[in-house]
Amino acid sequence: MPYEGQQASKRGHIDIVKNDDVKKFLSECAYLTQPGDQAAVSIAAHYKPAPKCDVLPQLVVASDGSAYSEPIDKKFPSTQVGYVKTSFMAFDMGDYNGLVTPGSPFVDPYAAASLHNKARAVAFTLPGSNVRYKGLRVQDGFRRAVYEQLSDERTQIPRGGFSVKDMLYHLEGGQIAIEKCPSCGQGGPHLFKRGKDESACSGCGATVYVTDSLRIHEQISDQGDNSSAITRFMNAVEHLQLATLLKAMADNNLSTVSGTAIMVDGPLALFGQPARYHASIQAFYYGLFERCESAGLPPPLIMGMQKDGMVMEHARALSPHLKNGTFCAISDQYRAEFINGIAPLTDNFGHETYYGQDFIYKTDSGRIFDVCLAYPFANKRNRKEFSGQKADPKNYDRWLARAFALIRHLEFDLYENSVVPVALAHRHASISLSPGGTLLDVLTKKHLS
Ligand SMILES: [Zn+2]
Repeated sequence: MPYEGQQASKRGHIDIVKNDDVKKFLSECAYLTQPGDQAAVSIAAHYKPAPKCDVLPQLVVASDGSAYSEPIDKKFPSTQVGYVKTSFMAFDMGDYNGLVTPGSPFVDPYAAASLHNKARAVAFTLPGSNVRYKGLRVQDGFRRAVYEQLSDERTQIPRGGFSVKDMLYHLEGGQIAIEKCPSCGQGGPHLFKRGKDESACSGCGATVYVTDSLRIHEQISDQGDNSSAITRFMNAVEHLQLATLLKAMADNNLSTVSGTAIMVDGPLALFGQPARYHASIQAFYYGLFERCESAGLPPPLIMGMQKDGMVMEHARALSPHLKNGTFCAISDQYRAEFINGIAPLTDNFGHETYYGQDFIYKTDSGRIFDVCLAYPFANKRNRKEFSGQKADPKNYDRWLARAFALIRHLEFDLYENSVVPVALAHRHASISLSPGGTLLDVLTKKHLS
């Protein structure tokens, strides 16, 4: 998605909001508006001085994904192929320094270019509608392509070793069950463990793959637009690759992980069919935090940076009323009262999708950020209780000051309210035409020894 100022909107401008029918309809709707001065002052009272420190991570890994669904031949617009690219930028903090001259709002273009050259992309090509991969039915071909590409060398660390597909087993405790055949619906269950990734359906003979547990194929239809399935795949695969990367690093050297910050473009959440994996990703990161803790090391920073969405729109509207250097955790109550303007829809916002907590942070220089920090909890057992715990800043003592220090260090003026690595990863994901590489290339030998 483009940053503000990066790409102009191409929407046609018929101002429907001024249309009388629409006006009448809107008079009966509740929606987000600019808070009045008095309201803004009372919301701003929830903001507290942001904790400070000057500890920066040694390694920053930023990621962003982009997805395309396009007709193969313009004469047959409903015959489509999907292309997903996840871009990663990993850089040692030492290499970053010098990119921004102190006191200047500008980035050194040569330093930015050399940083940009370090970005690595992993690309996936998937059959869309009306494309039969390896002669299989459209949906079966899609399942097979997902299985092959999440198993092959593009996501393996080390080469010939552990892939995103293997990470699924690790996340789910070694064994994965799929209840029904995804092709004919006949009951199983089909059981998978490392080394046994495939199973045959006794009803229709179709092959069931362990990666079918992501359920992305459910959105694929023979005809029609499959771009939402491709987008879901992108979202899931970006988060799964980062987890795989961290597992590989942790297996090699825990202190490298401890000194690492992960910056995802967007919230720490998995949406749609693959959402179930958000819970095991949360548990995996919690386990990593605990391992670092018992080794006497600080836990890594796992953060999502959101540049749009309702929280960010609210933050921008509120920003003039906030003091510099303040922050607030977005609790479910805050979200309901000040952002959505209606009572909470569930006992715990994001219960089925989120593995991180949103914080609004206004930096010392007055820029505003929505930063999502990984939940420091193994699970969300009690919805109501969790809803309170997750938004208590005390539970983020080990991360908040470091997260804010990193944002302050990386903020810059080129794109409004963005940080350099996320902006560069985004640029790489959206414009680079270089062919995809492997996840292994993201890290250097140093990071894996
Ligand atoms: Zn079957």
